[in-house]
Amino acid sequence: MNIVVCVKQVPDTAVERTLVPGEGTLDRASVVGLINEIDEYAIEEGLRIAEAHGGEVTILSMGPEKVSESIRKALSMGADKAVHLVDDSLAGSDALATSLALSAVLKTTGFDLVILGSESTDARTGVLPAMLAERLGVPQLTLASKVDIDGTAVTIRRMTDDGYDIVAADLPAVVSVVEKINEPRYPSFKGIMAAKKKPVQTLSLADISVDAGAVGLANAATAVADFAARPPRAAGVVVTDEGDGGARAAAFLAERKFI
Ligand SMILES: Cc1cc2nc3c(=O)[nH]c(=O)nc-3n(C[C@H](O)[C@H](O)[C@H](O)COP(=O)(O)OP(=O)(O)OC[C@H]3O[C@@H](n4cnc5c(N)ncnc54)[C@H](O)[C@@H]3O)c2cc1C
Repeated sequence: MNIVVCVKQVPDTAVERTLVPGEGTLDRASVVGLINEIDEYAIEEGLRIAEAHGGEVTILSMGPEKVSESIRKALSMGADKAVHLVDDSLAGSDALATSLALSAVLKTTGFDLVILGSESTDARTGVLPAMLAERLGVPQLTLASKVDIDGTAVTIRRMTDDGYDIVAADLPAVVSVVEKINEPRYPSFKGIMAAKKKPVQTLSLADISVDAGAVGLANAATAVADFAARPPRAAGVVVTDEGDGGARAAAFLAERKFI
């Protein structure tokens, strides 16, 4: 099987993230970039399917030079090779443009199964899997908490409020996974060393025949009109319990219609 896992590098969620004044884009240069958390589950799922059914796992990532660090991390988990789509014209691309660029790469690499995370931790639009499937003209099976492959068919389980859905389709297909679908493996020392030698193909927009006029901040269909820092958290209300703490806490909650 030719399995391609889309991996996004996002700013570390543990540090303060800032937007670039005038642009409204995320300041990615001055913060540490990490693999989008759910994408580690997507990589793990790809590796498990390849181990069970044979085949190769290719990491696909679009982003600036520093994305190479996250690509090496993904390769050290066990993926076979990677494609890094890097081009200055892509900076500030919205989801429409990102899906256009990634689908153009996938049309050149080919694929039986594309696996993505259900959403990124920075933009959280959660639309890439659907947009990619639409552009590639293949089925999409989203928010999978279990993935099964049987010959040329893929079946997922998707948790719902009432239980779960079973969704099936023929390959090739696009699947997005949710957190806790599996337990991502930690890269071993051997894996980290091997990753240094694994092939990473670097592609530009010209290599995939995508017009720079269709991507990037200047051509985004969405624009951040304005943004403001979150107001500092107001100090909480301190209730000293003089035997009536419970009643006063209940009154506090009732006033605010929590109860
Ligand atoms: C704060 C902020 C707000 C934004 N708001 C919007 C908006 O409202 N509308 C809009 O169109 N764009 C928006 N963007 C831009 C958007 O982040 C990018 O276009 C992004 O590449 C795709 O959106 P996403 O991360 O939300 O994708 P999601 O659909 O949330 O990501 C799902 C999966 O797609 C894959 N993926 C996403 N990006 C990449 C990538 N670059 N390389 C490889 N795989 C990838 C990963 O597997 C990921 O788990 C915003 C960006 C930021 C930082």
